[in-house]
Amino acid sequence: MSKSFCVFCKIVEGQIPATILYETPTTLAFKDVNPKAPHHILVIPKHHLSSLIELTGDHESLMADLFSSARQVAVDQGLHTTGFRTVVNTGRDAGQEVNHVHVHLLAGRPLKWPPG
Ligand code: AMP
Ligand code: ZN
Repeated sequence: MSKSFCVFCKIVEGQIPATILYETPTTLAFKDVNPKAPHHILVIPKHHLSSLIELTGDHESLMADLFSSARQVAVDQGLHTTGFRTVVNTGRDAGQEVNHVHVHLLAGRPLKWPPG
């Protein structure tokens, strides 16, 4: 999927609304529109990458930013006290629906493991 048709790129560009919880120059965190847990936040790089498969060595600092942002939004929302899960779905069998790399941050109830 190209950048111009990507729903998460449109959120980055302000073309469609989202409840934004945290932002850095390279990342954005917003509420998942269809939450699977009491707290369900998506953390994305502003730069379009379809999936982890597209990662190269050039993206190392971007991925560090992504997980630093996931940590920070979790702390800001108080989720670190009870714990949270971070998940990155890649490809068909993982159920990836949006082809823009995103970290799911899930919290607010005991989370089953393995997720199935
Ligand atoms: P995945 O299945 O890993 O690709 O997850 C995509 C996630 O994006 C799902 O949990 C959706 O509920 C969520 N989602 C899709 N469109 C939007 C949107 N416009 N705003 C917020 N979350 C969205
Ligand atoms: Zn995108």
